[in-house]
Parts: sequence; C-alpha cells; structure tokens
Amino acid sequence: MESALTARDRVGVQDFVLLENYNSEATFIENLRRRFRENLIYTYIGSVLVSVNPYKELEIYSKQQMERYRGVSFYEISPHIYALSDNTYRAMKTERKDQCILISGESGAGKTEASKKILLYFAVTCPTTEHAAALGDRLLQSNPVLEAFGNAKTLRNDNSSRFGKYMDIQFDFRGAPVGAHILNYLLEKSRVVHQNHGERNFHIFYQLLDGGDDELLKSLELERNPHSYRYLVKGNCPKVSSISDKNNWKVVMKALSVIGFATEEVQKLLKIIASVLHLGNVLFGEGEEEETYITTETQLSTLAMLLGVDGSALREALTHRKLTARGEEMITPLSFEQAVSARDALAKAVYGRTFTWLVEKINQSLALKDELYHSSKGSSVIGLLDIYGFEVLQHNSFEQFCINFCNEKLQQLFIELTLRSEQEEYETEGIAWETVKYFDNKIICDLIEEKHKGIISILDEECLRPGEACDVSFLEKLEDSLGCHPHFITHKLANGKTRRVMSREEFRLLHYAGEVNYNVSGFLDKNNDSLNRNLKEVMCQSDNQILSYCFRREEVIDQKRPEMAATQFKHSLTKLMEILMSKEPSYVRCIKPNDAKQPGRFDEVLVRHQVKYLGLMENLRVRRAGFAYRRRFEAFLQRYKPLCPETWPNWQGRLVDGVSALVKHLGYKEEEYKLGRSKIFIRFPKTLFTTEDALEA
Ligand code: ATP
Ligand code: MG
Repeated sequence: MESALTARDRVGVQDFVLLENYNSEATFIENLRRRFRENLIYTYIGSVLVSVNPYKELEIYSKQQMERYRGVSFYEISPHIYALSDNTYRAMKTERKDQCILISGESGAGKTEASKKILLYFAVTCPTTEHAAALGDRLLQSNPVLEAFGNAKTLRNDNSSRFGKYMDIQFDFRGAPVGAHILNYLLEKSRVVHQNHGERNFHIFYQLLDGGDDELLKSLELERNPHSYRYLVKGNCPKVSSISDKNNWKVVMKALSVIGFATEEVQKLLKIIASVLHLGNVLFGEGEEEETYITTETQLSTLAMLLGVDGSALREALTHRKLTARGEEMITPLSFEQAVSARDALAKAVYGRTFTWLVEKINQSLALKDELYHSSKGSSVIGLLDIYGFEVLQHNSFEQFCINFCNEKLQQLFIELTLRSEQEEYETEGIAWETVKYFDNKIICDLIEEKHKGIISILDEECLRPGEACDVSFLEKLEDSLGCHPHFITHKLANGKTRRVMSREEFRLLHYAGEVNYNVSGFLDKNNDSLNRNLKEVMCQSDNQILSYCFRREEVIDQKRPEMAATQFKHSLTKLMEILMSKEPSYVRCIKPNDAKQPGRFDEVLVRHQVKYLGLMENLRVRRAGFAYRRRFEAFLQRYKPLCPETWPNWQGRLVDGVSALVKHLGYKEEEYKLGRSKIFIRFPKTLFTTEDALEA
C-alpha cells in the first residue's frame, strides 16, 4: 500500500498553504504540475480556487459529483469548482449577504468553461419551483446565443469570448433562482471588418452559412461559401476542426426559441447578420474628379432590402457626408478611403448595437417577474464575472489598452477587498502580525483614468480636435504630460535621445502584471467610434424594428457629442467596481498549461508567467504570513464543543474562555493559534484537519 507521504509526493497538496516552502515559486509550480499530471486540475490558496485547463473532458462534472459537494466544507473534500459554487451559495443563503465570483485568467485559460460549470451547478442543485426550472433553462441557453454572437476563433482560443460579461443571479428566500441580469462590456467590434491571419469573424456568420437551410439562404441572398464574403476571408480560416458550425447553428436556433425570441424576431436578426456580410462586399470606385462611387450596385440593392432602408439614400450616405457648419447644412463627397471607412463603421455599428439589443432581449427573458417580486424580498444575489484577462499580443492596440485597464481595476479591487481587509482584520482583532508588502497598482489606474491628466482624458481631448489631431499628435501629447511618470515610457529618453527598441508610434505601460507596448495607430478612430450623421439618419428609418430600436431618431437630432469609447468603458468599469465592492468575493484563477491547446502538456515558462501576473505567490504569502483559517468564537464552539467535556453540551461563560478551554483540551500548541477579540485564528490547516477528524471519529 502507498504511504500517505508518497501519495502526497505524487499528487501534491490540495491547498498551497500546506506547502512547506511557500515562498518558492518553483515549489508552487511543481505542485501544480504534479496535480495536473494526475488530472487534479483544481488547487486552493485558502479560499481562492486555482484551475488549470485540462484541454480534455474529465469525468468530474456529473450530477453525482455535484451531490458530493453539497453542504460540504472546503477542507473536507478535494478542491473543485463545485465546492466553490456550493460555498458561495451557502454563504449567500445563511449570511444573507450578496456574493460574487470573479473569474480571471488569460485567453484560453478556461474562464468561460468555469462560469458555465458554476451556472450548471446552481441550475441542478438549487431548490426547484416550476419557475426556477424554467429560468434555469433560459439561463443555460443564454450561453450558446451569446457565444454565437460574441465569441470567435482566435489564435489563442477556438472559442474566445470577445466581450466581457457580468451576470447577476437573484435567489429568493428559499434559495431558488428567481431572476438574472447580464451586463456586457466592450465587444471587440473591429473583428466584424478585420481578422488577423488564422482567426475568424464571430461564430454566427459561419453558423448561418453552414447551418441555414437553402430556403433561408436564398431569402437572404447568401451563398454558402464563406469565401464569397470579404468580411470572412481576412483570416483565411473559415473552418475550425474543433467546431461544428452546422450543429451549433441548430443549438443556437433552439436556444433562441427557449429564451423566447419569436420567429419573426429571429428572421429580423438574421437579416441583419446577412446585411453585414453584404455590406462587406460593397466596393467603391474613384471617378476622374476624385469623386467616389459604388461599383457594386446589385450588392447595394440587396443590402438596402435586408436593412429595410431606402437604396438611394443608403448610396448617398455611403459616399457623402453631411455637416452642419454655422447653422448651414453642407453635403460633401467622401474620398475613396473615407467611403471605405464609413462602410466599415456602419458594419461595426450595426453588429455592435444588435449585440447590445440581443443582451437586452435576453435580460427581459431572465428578468424577475412581477408575480415573484414579493417572494424575492429579503433575497440575495450571486454575481458571476467572466471578463477578458490581461492581454499582451505582438501588436497591442486600443482594445488591449482597454482590456488591460480593466485588469488593473480588478487588481485594485482584489487589493481592496482581500489583501487590505485581511490586514485590517488582524488589526481590529488585536492580533500582532507582520505587514505583508504588496504592490498597490493605484498609481497605474490613475495614470490611465485620472480626470484631465490621465491617458483617457488626453485621448478624448485629441478626439475633439478633428482635422488637427492624429494618432501621432496624441502620442506627443502623452509624452508632454506623462513623460516623467514612472510607469509610462516612449522612445524619447529624458536626455533628449531616443530609445532604439521602441518605435515612434508606441508607448509602453508598466502594468502590475508586466510591460506592454501599445501602438497608437487607430486609437483616435476607435475612441471616436463615430458614424456619419447621414448614415445614422438612414438607419433610424429602417423598417426592421431591431434596427430602428438600435438607431434612435433622438441620436440624430441631439447634436451633443456622445461619450467616447474609452470614457464610456471607464464609466462602465466604475459601475462594475461599485457592484462588486458591495458583495463578498470569491476568486477563480484560471491557468492555461500550453499554447498548443493540447491535453497533458505543461509548459513551465508559460505557467510561471501566469502565476506571476495572477499574483498567486503574493496571494499565498498573505495567506500564509498570517493564519490560514479563522472562525468566529460562536461558530467554532458550536461545531467542536462535543470534543471537550467542559464545553459539552453547553458553555455558559465568556465565549473566549470556552474556546480557550476547548483548544487546550484538544492539545493545540501555542504557535498553532491565536485568540482575537471575536475570532480564533488557526495558523495551519493541518490543525483544523485533525480537529475535524476527531469530530468524525
Ligand atoms: P477567452 O478569454 O478567450 O474567452 P477563456 O478563459 O474563456 O478564454 P474557455 O473558452 O473557457 O477560455 O476555454 C478554452 C477551451 O479550453 C474550451 O473551449 C475547452 O476546450 C477547454 N477547457 C477549458 N476548461 C475546461 C475544463 N474544465 N474541462 C475541459 N476542457 C476545458
Ligand atoms: Mg471566454
């Protein structure tokens, strides 16, 4: 028989706080590797769950497994996403405090899969009423729909979420789900018109072409071959071996009907999807007097038919711009390049706004129904955040800038909620504790978002100088204002010389997770995200109700400039932080074991990098520097009082004396625990394991 020691050697420890040498990154990674080799993909750091993507189906997600984790404490059973789900659910139910689960990790690390497993756990294990079951169905079905429209094949993940998602699930007093709500963040709209080599556009386009029946394609004037569409050929990769577009099409159509989309609505939606494909095939020519005209007239009339707008108005709007100067309206022709970018801007706007409409529709279907409003009083919420992880690509642009800013904010939240509160708790409990030094990334958040001075403000200012400003002048402004900032670097050195390794179009930010170079090319355009007014005018007259909902008349009449993209994103993040701040957080940290998307391969360099920027070592240090576990005196006494004749059946005196008598009886050594003002702190989980075992014996 294998001894306990060799078993541990083989499979590692299930909680990193149990590592002897907890300061060593090598030991940490070795533990992950051992467990990964044994298909043990989950490991704790205290209450944080670390998960390594197995890239293969494991038999650990069945209903029986769910049952095993119900009502069981973390340390009694092997780590699992179900354990975290169950603990969160119980905390919500018993403490009546809103919870949230924050899932982070780089692209392909398994965030979306984790969030789906959590949802499934709730859908299967929560008390069912008829309503709860129907809601659970709709909740689960919202995933394939959002993935079809918001996910795409990238080099790093065949099913990469190209938007951020936060979902609130509301439970009634019995713990049955009664409603849900989704917030979506910054869809990567640029993908609609351009994809890098080896990447695809959003799944829905390929699903429609592969799965739609002949009649449907005919009515949308579509050909089956994706190569016929310019918006689908950029990445030169219409097929993905791991994906069946045909089957997924069926799944999505079924899901739309479960969620409650009417047949006519789905038709309207598909017309929009088809119109984006046709729009990409609208081409321009340049006349002798440099006027731009459309060379693909048949495409244009099909397009107008699908968009439900007037053909000649659309033609005019794609080649001319309407400006109001000093109260007078002027119509000026667009140059060839301007027409191309107006076309692409329209495609992005149509797709992006339709996506937002889709989320709103799903929200209506998931909303708390009036008749349940009463029973939901005193209910609580569990939030689920599946948002893009820190991104460093070969070429980093506006999108990566926003994504990495989002990760800085989440790190701030983590510091705020975990590290700081951990230290504060020791202080309020009056327990001496060495402060753990950690890097506070507020300085980087400020660098990006500070009013008037931050990068976003400077970007907005430049966008307000049309004709004068350009991407390079934006970079110069940044240099002038932020040149001395310790986290901001450009090619210019302080002594006036240039830094050779950086191009003149880049700035570098020293993020908490590492350095990233951003190329400013396209920043102004993407931040402006504007659509010519006459295109808006045409769109708001569409007889497709989805489009007339997405393009409101007020927007054309209202001359006030809407918020720019980065500022909008900043404000939505501020709101998100407020939502999360008011809840009790749990964390899932996802790790990608290799770049080849293959099972069984553990690339140490890649993993080490992620361990670093997920801040796992720091997390562990904080956990271990203090005490691994803490319990309120009442809870501790309640659970363990049978183990000591003095405290059984009831302790009459002061709680602290009861706990003291109990641990003395159990033989706790002095270095194993401390008594605070209201809680007992236990340094090593082992101590607690032994006590738990005694209870079972
Ligand atoms: P992105 O940021 O690009 O959206 P992500 O972190 O959401 O990435 P997922 O889409 O969840 O990544 O996972 C990528 C792929 O890895 C999945 O499509 C699946 O094939 C595999 N995978 C992830 N988690 C698991 C798991 N627990 N079991 C089996 N396979 C998994
Ligand atoms: Mg994802």
